[in-house]
Order: sequence, then C-alpha cells, then structure tokens
Amino acid sequence: MNTENKRCGWVKRALFEFFSNLCPKCGSSLVLRVAKQGANKGNEFYGCSAYPKCRHTATVS
Ligand SMILES: [Zn+2]
Repeated sequence: MNTENKRCGWVKRALFEFFSNLCPKCGSSLVLRVAKQGANKGNEFYGCSAYPKCRHTATVS
C-alpha cells in the first residue's frame, strides 16, 4: 500500500511539472533560455517554444 501511494505521488509530481512547463498563453511547451541582451543578460528564464509568435516568458524559480 505504501508503494502504491509513493507511485501515485510521483505521477502527480510528474504531471504537475509537465503542466507547469506549458505556456499559459498558447499551450506550447516552455524552454529554458539564457538572456543574451538587456538588463537580465546571462540570466536563465523560461521562454515559450512558439517564440517569436508567442512572447510569453517566465522567471526560473
Ligand atoms: Zn506561448
């Protein structure tokens, strides 16, 4: 029974991570990018894989 609970928790976690990596604007996946210019140069952030069609970005937490 404990094993079953652990597996269930793992699946929930994996699903959460998967869905939290989707763009809330267009549903495409987010990809880790590094800012190449601007004030945040060198910082990592998540950018929508549909860029430049979709310009959604999210900060890495
Ligand atoms: Zn998007």
